[in-house]
Amino acid sequence: MPSPLKGLLLQNETLEGIMEYAKGMYPNEIILLARGKKVSGYLFIEEVLSPPFQRAGRSFASYAVWSLPYSPSIVGTIHSHPSGALYPSLQDLLQYYGRVMGIAAYPYAGKMNLAFFDRNGNQIPFFIGSPSELS
Ligand SMILES: [Zn+2]
Repeated sequence: MPSPLKGLLLQNETLEGIMEYAKGMYPNEIILLARGKKVSGYLFIEEVLSPPFQRAGRSFASYAVWSLPYSPSIVGTIHSHPSGALYPSLQDLLQYYGRVMGIAAYPYAGKMNLAFFDRNGNQIPFFIGSPSELS
């Protein structure tokens, strides 16, 4: 069993990158893979990547989980909700992939439009910063 997380950590530039991408693709939905590692009990999201075969306009529900690349450094996914809903849909939880699921909700203005959930739909707190700021 993996130990419980104190929370997630991501850098401000990563947050801005997610929001810019989601804004640019609006009203389509986006999905990104999150690469990360554990640092002092936090899960640090080092970078976000576009999955292969992504086509604009497809909804997250249409992604087959088996089409996502397997890598131990992929800790989860982040996708957007053009509807503005900042919580996972039932479909999202059924398609859960990895340890964390991030949702960026319209209008993608900043930290308040991003949330992370575990596979039970419970919110995981996240912090903006770099691992060097922990300790
Ligand atoms: Zn969703």
